Amino acid sequence: MSTIAYKNGALQMEDVPLEKIAQKHGTPLYCYSAKRLTDNFRAYQTTLKDILPEDKFTVCYACKANSNQAVLHLLGTLGAGADVVSGGEMHRALKAGIPHGKIVFSGVGKTAEEVETAVKNDILQINVESEPELERISAVAAKAGAKTRIAFRVNPDVDANTHEKITTGRSENKFGIDIKSAPALYRKAKGMSGIVPSGVAVHIGSQLMNLAPFAEAFKRIAALVGELRAQGNDITTVDVGGGLGVPYQGETPPDVKKYVALIRDIIAPLNVHVILEPGRSIAGDAGVLLTRVQYLKEGGDKRFLIVDAGMNDLMRPALYDAYHAILPCSAPAPSDATQTYDVVGPVCETSDTFRTNMELPRTGQGALLAIMTAGAYGASMASAYNTRPLPAEVLVSGDAFDVIRPRQMIEDIVAADVIPERPV
Ligand SMILES: *Cc1c(COP(=O)(O)O)cnc(C)c1O
Repeated sequence: MSTIAYKNGALQMEDVPLEKIAQKHGTPLYCYSAKRLTDNFRAYQTTLKDILPEDKFTVCYACKANSNQAVLHLLGTLGAGADVVSGGEMHRALKAGIPHGKIVFSGVGKTAEEVETAVKNDILQINVESEPELERISAVAAKAGAKTRIAFRVNPDVDANTHEKITTGRSENKFGIDIKSAPALYRKAKGMSGIVPSGVAVHIGSQLMNLAPFAEAFKRIAALVGELRAQGNDITTVDVGGGLGVPYQGETPPDVKKYVALIRDIIAPLNVHVILEPGRSIAGDAGVLLTRVQYLKEGGDKRFLIVDAGMNDLMRPALYDAYHAILPCSAPAPSDATQTYDVVGPVCETSDTFRTNMELPRTGQGALLAIMTAGAYGASMASAYNTRPLPAEVLVSGDAFDVIRPRQMIEDIVAADVIPERPV
């Protein structure tokens, strides 16, 4: 059964009516299903166990999708590692109990301080995205008397056929090193005092809806591993990145089993430790954003539902023109007539629009709506723009639910500003 469904006239997550959570903790508010997070993670973990011994792979959950420590902790107890893209995420993952030996550090702009933290914590591997970064890592590691395991993130120049703002594997993107220059860079890295070039990494983009680009990228990576080995490199890890899509609009995303079959056919024969970095496909459909209608504004030929969540709470529609389904939390009667609405937030930006011209059973002020599939790149991207406090977050498990992040206090936002005492 789905973890989000109508039951007795109310939209429930697991066994809890969403209205009950909203009444207790207010809106806007993110709710995540522990069961769905678990099932999504296990889909990877159990399928991989069928094809590889347990010490031959690590599923490093991409923390940026949803970096709440309760989520990281839950996944950590199931065996997850973490893919982090900043010193802040590394800190969070460690604090949530993810073992240092299961943490991969990705990202194009790592500072010396962040690299130092990674070296000191002896993480699984740093994914290097440029030659100057390689030099920085070697210098930091050598100074600490350490040798750091690195993988170059290679850009295989495949088109992931996804939204242009989330494709990363084409040669014109800022990510990774050109696959053609990889052999020379590994040769260089091998001679550096602070570096052990032991891995190859790739991540071609996000929200991929078919497997062909993965197959193409994996083949190019496998060929590269062969070439690197022939030139004397001891390549022991391949990091295949993340990127599997989730259904936002009823689409059918690639099946995890078929994705893992690609790993079995193309990567496993290399006899390496395989690292995966799924983010969205673990957290995306496990979360909803609850929001209450403040006003029904009718005028001209438009009918606006002005809700209390804004683009600061969920940025995806404004940032990527992303589509999110929106459901009323009390089940409409089959006889209810539908009307056409624009669902908009309170922020002073025209792009603060969740949906335009959507059909909903007639609704209005006070109604609770669930913005669906908001578990990934929702709360983790939220800001306090318009001095709107960051939303609360709740984790649902069976018939229980806990606040895993209280709503930010306006006092805390305001208290952080400092008015200098210097006379003007
Ligand atoms: C964002 C990111 C991921 C996760 O991507 P999803 O599409 O959320 O699975 C994995 N690896 C890297 C390097 C990333 O930047």
